[in-house]
Amino acid sequence: MLAADEVRQALSVHPRPVVVDAIRRILDHFRSEAAAPPVRSREEWASLLLSRLPGEIATGEEESLGRVINATGVVIHTNLGRAPLPEEAIRAVSLVARGYSNLEFDLASGGRSSRLVHVEKLILSLTGAESAHVVNNNAAAVLLCLAGLARGRDVLVSRGELVEIGGSFRIPDIMTESGAALVEVGTTNRTRLTDYERAVTGRTALLLKVHRSNFRITGFTEEVSAGDLSTLGDRLGIPVLEDLGSGALFDFSVAGIAGTPTVRQALRQGPGIVTVSGDKLLGGPQAGIIVGRRELVAPLKKHPLSRALRIDKMGLAALAATLRLYADERRAVRRIPVLAMMTDGEGSVLARARKLVRRVRRGGGAGLLLSVEKGLSSPGGGAMPDVHLPTVCVALSHPAVRVEDIEERLRGGKPPVIARIVRGKLLLDMRTVRDDELPELAAALLAAVEKKAC
Ligand SMILES: *Cc1c(COP(=O)(O)O)cnc(C)c1O
Repeated sequence: MLAADEVRQALSVHPRPVVVDAIRRILDHFRSEAAAPPVRSREEWASLLLSRLPGEIATGEEESLGRVINATGVVIHTNLGRAPLPEEAIRAVSLVARGYSNLEFDLASGGRSSRLVHVEKLILSLTGAESAHVVNNNAAAVLLCLAGLARGRDVLVSRGELVEIGGSFRIPDIMTESGAALVEVGTTNRTRLTDYERAVTGRTALLLKVHRSNFRITGFTEEVSAGDLSTLGDRLGIPVLEDLGSGALFDFSVAGIAGTPTVRQALRQGPGIVTVSGDKLLGGPQAGIIVGRRELVAPLKKHPLSRALRIDKMGLAALAATLRLYADERRAVRRIPVLAMMTDGEGSVLARARKLVRRVRRGGGAGLLLSVEKGLSSPGGGAMPDVHLPTVCVALSHPAVRVEDIEERLRGGKPPVIARIVRGKLLLDMRTVRDDELPELAAALLAAVEKKAC
């Protein structure tokens, strides 16, 4: 095989392992094929294999990670990459990625500096904090805080806040890895201030409050607010760490979405340290932001784990650009996709749904039964578990094609379209679909049923 002209030609353009792998895949394909092609001679086999070679090499080079169209309505979808970045952040990433940058270089003195200077002032002015630190993600932020402030000592947590966030971030496990000892207080549904007070000993280093990002407890419940816990902490001289999870810099209650404090509001309740994610409600890149009192944050910056958990230059550039947009709140809502999608009115989502239906019909319709239906989308991403935003979906089915097959075809398309099936209909929630994605989406819908028909 390797001596054939076609292969030698392929070898002059592609690395040998790529070509060999492609040939192996073709051979495997024919070996496993139930109905082998009707060829007899060696030569016929060889030419059949070789005719598939360019296509197979191209398949092998296809990207694994790529864009998808999110028609789930889940704005901060962890499996779909969480927050889409604002254009300003994308430009900033591209600039520092392409060339050299003053990442840790002080242009004024010509000496070494810290990468944090590019975001620190912005974070302080947006949150009102005394001091700020940034690491790779919020899980890293919590780990660093626990290791830096409580290693070898006790951390008190309510039994109602021993949470698991998707992707195996579990408070008890993070605690173990940090070297701090978890002390559970209260019960699953009710925890009072006296529960914390009674559990405090000479070994207590921190009182930890964890945001219930992805679930809620209802019924006969009681919990201690960050404010009350901070008052207790101040009285006993024990710092309070609040893992806020989703860090809003924009006050969503202004847009009628209540129940999520901004980082500034959270800090005003008095905890010594608050940690938040960069790519949840903040709408920026993956990052973990630590804000709080100087004497608590300063040792974290020097902690050896800080180096291992540091944010990379592209994340930092994107974070700085996103934070800068917050200087003007109206601009932030327009330019930061997460904020724009969260606050998008029902009317504008409805208009997008109608546009999609019109496009599909103009394309012939392919027998698709389409309707526009009201629904509820969720913020997702471990943010606002009680919030559901009124939305509009395009619901579709087909008399001759099962919706499960349509869903699978859409998922396998280019780009893949991610939708969900509810009560026998495929629902496309238009809150998370951009206007400029409508042509592709309409074409994907038509292709999904047309392919199936032939
Ligand atoms: C999301 C979340 C985390 C993890 O944050 P990442 O940025 O995904 O690492 C930790 N704690 C809470 C409360 C969260 O909501």
